[in-house]
Amino acid sequence: MPEGHTLFALARDLDAAYRGTQPTVSSPQGKFAAGAAVLSGRTFVHATSWGKHLFAEFEDDAWLHVHLGLIGTFSIDERQYAGEVPVVGQVRLRLATDEHVADLRGPNLCAVITPDVVEAVMARLGPDPLRPEPDPEIAWRKIARSAKAIAELLMDQSVLAGIGNVYRSEVLFRQRVDPFRPGKEIRRTTWDAIWLDLVDLLPLGVATGKIVTVAEQVDEIRAEVAAGQVDRLTERLSYVYKRQGEPCRVCGSRIRTRVVAGRNLFWCGRCQRRR
Ligand SMILES: [Zn+2]
Repeated sequence: MPEGHTLFALARDLDAAYRGTQPTVSSPQGKFAAGAAVLSGRTFVHATSWGKHLFAEFEDDAWLHVHLGLIGTFSIDERQYAGEVPVVGQVRLRLATDEHVADLRGPNLCAVITPDVVEAVMARLGPDPLRPEPDPEIAWRKIARSAKAIAELLMDQSVLAGIGNVYRSEVLFRQRVDPFRPGKEIRRTTWDAIWLDLVDLLPLGVATGKIVTVAEQVDEIRAEVAAGQVDRLTERLSYVYKRQGEPCRVCGSRIRTRVVAGRNLFWCGRCQRRR
């Protein structure tokens, strides 16, 4: 499932392509025909993301709300030629101008909503480390009173928004936190370190399109970002994600896996032992 950095980059790219334009909105597949008719021809005001949710504001208070879910994709292409761009696959939503065509396929959700609903959706979501001035206290208050495992809480979008299965496994390893430790037993300093690590790591995900967590790669990419020249990574390294049975990069013991909150959690039993 795409994590928050993917949605953030998508909102940024949609904004760059469509802000101030009046795209023709259609639903080649038909499932979003009514919504497309509402939006078509209106000025695209701006796009933003909160966690895994994408919002695009059109003039006169019409908002497009998209959640990609597990398999959804939203591609934005520059037009190479005038005329109809062929539809490939099941396109729920198409945004077309003379310069760009964006196709949304397989989303979990695609709807036109009012500003009130936008506010209500955002109010239900925990802080997103990529948003301007997120409030980590909101997440901390929920974690500190919960008996659920921290690995489960990090996946709960009402606690923290945008974190998915890869970031949760990796950040818990990076901070050497036992993933099964209940939220209420997590120390404040540990939570602060997790939050700051996510604030630090997610922009690298936005810059590269990949989840970068292993120290060497983090240093390399951070230097590239600072220099304003990022090569798109071809290979992503991880500490624990999808490395079950392989030796831990730090201590050599075998990486373990178990389903937690519906997805496979990966961790090192030795490095992430309770202290
Ligand atoms: Zn280890």
